[in-house]
Amino acid sequence: MSETAADPEHLAVGGEPEDGELPDEIRVHQPRRALPTDVVRPTRAEVRLSALRYNLGQLRKVTGNTPIWGVLKADAYGLGSKAVARTLERAKMDGVCVALVEEGIELRQAGIQLPILVMGGYYGDALRELLEYRLTPVLSDVGQVEALARAVRLADQGPFGVHVKVDTGMARLGTRPEQWPRLIESLRARPELSVLALMSHLANADVAEPDVFSEPLALFDAANARFVAGGVTPKARHLANSAALLRDPQTHFDLVRPGLALFGVDPRPTGVERSGVAGEVRFKLAMSVHSRVVSLRRLGRGDGVGYGASFVAAGPTTIATVPMGYADGLSRALSNRGHALIRGKRVPIVGNVSMDMTMIDVTDVPGASASDEVVFLGSQSGPLGQDTISALEMAHDAGTIPWEILTNISRRVPRFYRED
Ligand SMILES: *Cc1c(COP(=O)(O)O)cnc(C)c1O
Repeated sequence: MSETAADPEHLAVGGEPEDGELPDEIRVHQPRRALPTDVVRPTRAEVRLSALRYNLGQLRKVTGNTPIWGVLKADAYGLGSKAVARTLERAKMDGVCVALVEEGIELRQAGIQLPILVMGGYYGDALRELLEYRLTPVLSDVGQVEALARAVRLADQGPFGVHVKVDTGMARLGTRPEQWPRLIESLRARPELSVLALMSHLANADVAEPDVFSEPLALFDAANARFVAGGVTPKARHLANSAALLRDPQTHFDLVRPGLALFGVDPRPTGVERSGVAGEVRFKLAMSVHSRVVSLRRLGRGDGVGYGASFVAAGPTTIATVPMGYADGLSRALSNRGHALIRGKRVPIVGNVSMDMTMIDVTDVPGASASDEVVFLGSQSGPLGQDTISALEMAHDAGTIPWEILTNISRRVPRFYRED
């Protein structure tokens, strides 16, 4: 049994065998503060821990000995950062990146021992927490350097490791070239801080053009040379997200920071050549979203469906109601555009997605009945076949990106973890 069982936030699912299809090591991760103590509604997300390990293995094939620091921000893109971090720590991942100090603290409190890099750039009054929880901050300006150096001095702690970020074209965080000299000077004057790494983030790693890396890489090299010449020698360098590490080994440097690919979505643009090992690796979607039909009805020609009757039946139509809506992360942009799987067959979402419920057209699904399983994200096999709705497809239908599809699955949807 997985140790998730010992975590009070993971309860064993009680005695409800599901067609013998789900093994009993499944655990439910209760959304904090959101639900009563039991899960009544059939809507749930399933997280396959084996897929996380598999994806880490695929990334290893591409990066060789370069350490992998998985990006587990935003609750591990919605999969649940504690379970994901535990799984990947045990699978020998080398480090973790998060966006918020809060996210780092949550992982330390869950017992994660890996290095944790806090990338969001905002530390507020939490500088002491960085020290206390051994969280490594990313610094971009002199103000942050001064404030942290002071906190380290007050705490009387030895040199505290930081990563320093330079802006190579993202214009979000990181120092701009004109500010490098001042930042270098202030770092040199602060023995309380030790620069473990120089880092950056790429704005165009998933853009479908052949040469998206040479300009930022040249700037990153220039930054490194400048820091070294100024007497601040970073022990390591890093800038690769999933797309960059899969597209160009020159972006690997001393560690890589994949997020999306770990969770099973390949962010490489289509039409860009894939060669070598990276051309062969494939990822397994680690989260799927399931529900069940709660109501069925027959409509006649001219009958409307949902708020505003944005779908009108053209003839005899069978509609199934599924208890998952936009408050669960099923984007309202999927109204009359998205799809679901039922009995192994793809069917359209019809009418406007509402807050708690969505209607699907099951007219062409022989045998569709109440309590049939419905899959919005992931694979299903059933009497009518086998099909998959990928995060990419859902993102395309909703007019967004797969990152947002995963992170939008809300707290109201309990996460079930399975080992297999
Ligand atoms: C989110 C993020 C990543 C990971 O990006 P993916 O595209 O999900 O691999 C890496 N670095 C930084 C700074 C990020 O914000």
